[in-house]
Amino acid sequence: VDKGLVVSFGEMLIDFVPTESGVSLSESSGFLKAPGGAPANVAIAVSRLGGRAAFVGKLGDDDFGHMLAGILRKNGVDDQGINFDKGARTALAFVTLRSDGEREFMFYRNPSADMLLRPDELNLELIRSAKVFHYGSISLITEPCRSAHMKAMEVAKEAGALLSYDPNLREPLWPSPEEARIQIMSIWDKADIIKVSDVELEFLTGNKTIDDETAMSLWHPNLKLLLVTLGENGCRYYTKDFHGSVETFHVDAVDTTGAGDSFVGALLNQIVDDQSVLEEEERLRKVLRFANACGAITTTKKGAIPALPSDCEALSFL
Ligand code: ADP
Repeated sequence: VDKGLVVSFGEMLIDFVPTESGVSLSESSGFLKAPGGAPANVAIAVSRLGGRAAFVGKLGDDDFGHMLAGILRKNGVDDQGINFDKGARTALAFVTLRSDGEREFMFYRNPSADMLLRPDELNLELIRSAKVFHYGSISLITEPCRSAHMKAMEVAKEAGALLSYDPNLREPLWPSPEEARIQIMSIWDKADIIKVSDVELEFLTGNKTIDDETAMSLWHPNLKLLLVTLGENGCRYYTKDFHGSVETFHVDAVDTTGAGDSFVGALLNQIVDDQSVLEEEERLRKVLRFANACGAITTTKKGAIPALPSDCEALSFL
């Protein structure tokens, strides 16, 4: 039986991460070129776990863009929804590791190719074949990509796809925090599944207390599942009938990049062919336990994409 298709919409970029050893022979620039972008990570996460995934977005018609498309293909992700922009460059992020261990990002986006995806360029046939349509919020920041995002979402919904939303807030990319909040919430009530992190929950509600009441203030009437991820404390889930939390696994975390995307990919891959999971708490808890495991595994290796587990890896970890 063919598995249902997960289509992930949005940005894909390269993070330039300084290597610990500085300039070495293998990394002659002193930077590791780490492919990323949450929607692309999610597509690869699904594919690694044995699911079917496609990525929809725009890359520059340059070495970086073709390198990224190659990474998607190599990981079994359908590339028929990818456009290449002749004029604009692929988005890049430069990471500075601060002395306190925190990361600081600087982006090349003025504009980058991903921001220039137009509604008329969308592969509608591919989008209509999605069982699950997943997206973030970075694609909402500027036109014409915002219109492309809205259209893709509408077409997927009309064709019967489940809509999955992870705002994945990158505050510095927005003109202001207020603008970010308004735009992120502008498509809130379209989604069937929403995943936020504890940090995003606080940002969106303005409430520092991460409790059920705060989470439920983000509920909307058509929502099927709200998830709050809590890093090493696992996740909380809310449906119209039940709510609770699922613990994650003890691991030696070395880099949490991509943990949330790994979690989302694992979740979507498990519900794409059977949405009744969302209505039965015990089954949902099993699904979330697996998603937590995938998130936890991803923190044990550097980078996002190289750290996304295969189904075998995830099963043997469990
Ligand atoms: P995001 O990357 O969106 O901020 P989180 O950091 O909350 O999301 O991570 C997503 C999931 O990955 C968590 O719900 C948890 O299951 C797992 N995870 C993240 N960090 C750790 C950790 N340090 N130890 C174990 N599991 C983790």
